Amino acid sequence: MIAKTITILGSTGSVGCSTIDLIERNRDLYKVVALTANRNVAALAAQARKLKVELAVVADETCKADLEDALRGTGIEVAAGQAGLIEAANREAQWVMAAIVGAAGLAPTLAAVRRGAEIALANKECLVCAGDYFMQEVARHKATLLPVDSEHNAIFQVLERQHPEQIEKIILTASGGPFREKTTEFMEKATPEQAVAHPKWDMGAKISVDSATLMNKGLELIEAYHLFPVDVEQLDVVVHPESIVHSMVDYKDGSVLAQLGSPDMRIPIAYMLAWPHRMATPVPRLSLTEIGSLTFEAPDYKRFPALALAREAMRMGGVMPTILNAANEIAVEAFLNRRIGFSDIARNVEAALTTLRRDFPQNGAQSAADLAAIEEIDHLARKNAAEWVQKHAS
Ligand code: NDP
Repeated sequence: MIAKTITILGSTGSVGCSTIDLIERNRDLYKVVALTANRNVAALAAQARKLKVELAVVADETCKADLEDALRGTGIEVAAGQAGLIEAANREAQWVMAAIVGAAGLAPTLAAVRRGAEIALANKECLVCAGDYFMQEVARHKATLLPVDSEHNAIFQVLERQHPEQIEKIILTASGGPFREKTTEFMEKATPEQAVAHPKWDMGAKISVDSATLMNKGLELIEAYHLFPVDVEQLDVVVHPESIVHSMVDYKDGSVLAQLGSPDMRIPIAYMLAWPHRMATPVPRLSLTEIGSLTFEAPDYKRFPALALAREAMRMGGVMPTILNAANEIAVEAFLNRRIGFSDIARNVEAALTTLRRDFPQNGAQSAADLAAIEEIDHLARKNAAEWVQKHAS
């Protein structure tokens, strides 16, 4: 059997490491061509040696010399910076895991899209920042988009694609995050340590904070809007603290199809690695009798205003999601660096949306399909959010 060739963008992160874990258990089925990281030279070099890749890339150019040292004598090529990331994405790998965090993943993922690769998409920010443009490029270059985010992967597994008119609703489940039962007063003073301590999922810092504010679910609504053939009003969120039902499709006849599993990212990653088949994983089997009961509740848009902001940005469309995403990235970073409080994240995003909306008639619908315009707006929103941080930093 010929091994499937693979590139992992963001290999040193949580999703990247889970992908490598699965590949290592099936070494004869997969051949890893290129890996990328931002600054984590030690982890990247160890992965590159172990998997005998062709190319290893660090996004931060100041880390290039260290990576060269770490890989000397191995014959593995080393590159750095944006050009290096694009080079990795352009290598002839059939399957590309897009697992860089944030809008930084957009350009390399687009490079892989433009050569018509199979894209296992973890990086939801790509679709939030530039969804209209991104989906046009996927269609134009006949790339295959394989959703890795657990909710979208669940929908992908149960969606009757040939008959979109039969879908009544798509229901995304949300764990509710670590602050599901906390008061607004508690959240006002919440620390980064408390925010990243997710009760069910083990993830990178940024998505963990997004899960605590519920912005993650908002980003996922926008992601689902671009991935699946439904309107904004057909997308719903239900809080499900056990994180066993990973999402559902509600059909016209009253049937609701769901995908269930343990909360372990190796399940959706494995589905996309083996797609259109399935592969064995070491993930703990689901025992419904042990779990006993599954619970569901409506999301609280008042205590979690970030979810309301994301829904509103999705409804407005155009470049509003671009602004939402960029401001959120700046605000989360400022929170993790203890410059602003937890509740300031949503305040900062709201301020960016309110201020910049005035500059974009029809919410910038035209600009949403133009990459240069999107990049400019992303930059503007980051600047606006950084100024907000400057003004409100304690
Ligand atoms: P991590 O923070 O754990 O890892 C991010 C990866 O991207 C690392 O390899 C990191 O390198 C690299 N990276 C960070 N910044 C840059 C940059 N500016 N340029 C290039 N590379 C960069 O994130 P996760 O694995 O948690 O998440 C990755 C993506 O997947 C996110 O978009 C997230 O929303 C999505 N996702 C994650 C899930 C999860 O369970 N973790 C679930 C569903 C979706 P380094 O190690 O050097 O910093």
